[in-house]
Amino acid sequence: AAHRKVALVTGANKGIGRGTAERLAALGATVLVGARDPRRGEEAAAALRAAGGDAHAVALDVTDPATVQEAARRIGERFGRLDVLVNNAGITGSGQVSPADAHDQVPSTVDLDMVRTVFETNVFGVIAVTNAMLPLLRRSPAARVVNVSSHAASLTLGSDPDGPLAGLLPSAAYAPSKSALSALTVQYANELRKDGILVNAVAPGFVATDSNDHTGFLTVEQGASVVVRLAVLGPDGPTAGFFGEEGPVPW
Ligand code: NDP
Repeated sequence: AAHRKVALVTGANKGIGRGTAERLAALGATVLVGARDPRRGEEAAAALRAAGGDAHAVALDVTDPATVQEAARRIGERFGRLDVLVNNAGITGSGQVSPADAHDQVPSTVDLDMVRTVFETNVFGVIAVTNAMLPLLRRSPAARVVNVSSHAASLTLGSDPDGPLAGLLPSAAYAPSKSALSALTVQYANELRKDGILVNAVAPGFVATDSNDHTGFLTVEQGASVVVRLAVLGPDGPTAGFFGEEGPVPW
């Protein structure tokens, strides 16, 4: 139906992205399940439809410009606009099981190719997808962009030796990639403010997913909750902000 919001979630075949897709579908949105593996994307979309949602798989590897362009073309052809973009797809980097085990990301010994790989997905992929979808977002009466970041992005928390991130190993890849995502969030928000497009970053908390071998203490439903809240903001909602379930996160 024309009144349904059309929402694209990248990396929605599993983890927080899938939890976000489930919640948006339950709220009545048409959910486009972005997945780099088309088969697993179809599986996730079929599960959402079986639960009563309106869901469609979209083949999308955020590091592959051809799939990004093709996804935008197909969404435009079928729906003519996009109301919500959730940039969720992300990687922690090779060999990282949990943040505390991220020895391979210690700045002094990090493999620069690993840093490049993490930035390719977590930063450059977000620019590629956002720019490809912007013409469609501009056709929405109230578009929202949510960038799924992490508390590890916070320079304020990270530079406090007694702060909540003090237990994490220093990281030259994942944490800086999410800090760069914070910076991009503010820059996009400032450019798109005049168009009424609200752009925010969220920190879902430590969520049990494949990315941390399910050592996180939150469920994907809990992690997705703040993502969804920012995805369905009303007209007076914030832009250029950074939020966790607990409220604003310091940059
Ligand atoms: P998962 O590993 O469970 O899911 C990551 C998703 O991103 C998968 O669908 C994966 O696809 C997809 N993905 C990875 N690379 C690409 C790519 N190049 N193109 C398209 N999709 C891609 O991780 P989470 O659910 O934990 O993470 C989701 C987001 O949440 C990430 O941005 C992460 O940094 C962030 N986050 C997670 C936290 C946590 O505690 N779990 C904490 C803070 C932030 P595939 O299945 O094909 O690999």
